[in-house]
Amino acid sequence: MNNKTLSCLAEKLERKRDLQDEEFAALLEEDLPGFSQELARRARVVREKYYGKGVYIRGLIEFTNYCRNNCLYCGIRRGNEKAQRYRLSQEEILACCEEGYALGFRTFVLQGGEDSYFTDDRLEQLIQSIKKSHPDCAVTLSIGEREKDSYARLFAAGADRYLLRHETADRAHYESLHPAEMSQAHRLQCLRDLKDIGYQVGCGMMVGSPGQTAACLIKDLRFLQELQPEMVGIGPFIPQADTPLGHAPAGTAELTLRLLSLIRLLLPKVLLPATTALGTIDPQGREKGLLSGANVLMPNLSPASVRKKYALYDNKICTGDEAAQCVACLGQRLSSTGYHLEIARGDHPGFQTIK
Ligand code: SAH
Repeated sequence: MNNKTLSCLAEKLERKRDLQDEEFAALLEEDLPGFSQELARRARVVREKYYGKGVYIRGLIEFTNYCRNNCLYCGIRRGNEKAQRYRLSQEEILACCEEGYALGFRTFVLQGGEDSYFTDDRLEQLIQSIKKSHPDCAVTLSIGEREKDSYARLFAAGADRYLLRHETADRAHYESLHPAEMSQAHRLQCLRDLKDIGYQVGCGMMVGSPGQTAACLIKDLRFLQELQPEMVGIGPFIPQADTPLGHAPAGTAELTLRLLSLIRLLLPKVLLPATTALGTIDPQGREKGLLSGANVLMPNLSPASVRKKYALYDNKICTGDEAAQCVACLGQRLSSTGYHLEIARGDHPGFQTIK
């Protein structure tokens, strides 16, 4: 295929927000020189149409690394006896929010393993206290699979958004990355329940996870078309030495960047982070992600003392810094991109009214 044909395909994707499988495959796999740059340029035009040059920041609080699940790729899986477990108290979490607010964060993302200590009652209390102290901020949860009535209670308590990556839309691939006790059908049902309740919902996949093929990625893109999530989180798979997949090769920045551009064209208004995993696999990964269509950054707000313990994968960046350092560093990094950090809740354009 030549560059002209590929340009036509990109243009068609932008216009129709749909393609045939073979066309998606061509956009994913073609390595003609300059083509990724062209896709990135198109993605930037779309991103700037809806979001200008602003980059939303979300303060990520990794509040527990206890997890009842045993995902084969994840460093905080229950079977990893080397993981040093921790759990932040409500006071510690509120202190992170306080510090984050002063730094300009207007969204707090509570992420953790599936920790049964955090019952609906405790989470409800936590969400209500954050909302009481910071009524102008959004609370995003990223705490895995729960039942619909639990999601509904947390929404009623004030949670605005929910991140739950689907990890892979291909069933056999999902089963190869997870123990038999986990079910893809349940995870996908969770995403539909969250949508139904009224959350701004984020799904997403790891890029280059062991066994992933172009056909898996096409299924992922089709799943995004179907779910129409408000947010999509993608990042390269990075092996964690103490997991069963600790020796598998990592995913690449190149494929992640290309997917970011394709996702921007497929879902023009989506909130799309340039993730920490992308910044880990490539020192300029986050800047490149923003220049490929991403419009969100999620700096770490967790207390420095626990950062290294939330080791989903090896060599994670920013585990030594204070939150303020991370924000200053990102601000500087952004200056090379022409974008700037924006102090705002940064809701999806379809959700502009505060609850
Ligand atoms: N327990 C929550 C949060 C999981 S951690 C949940 O189930 O949603 C957040 C994300 O980190 C996961 O969804 C996964 O996509 C990613 N992740 C986990 N291990 C990883 C690895 N080894 N490399 C890259 N990303 C990883």
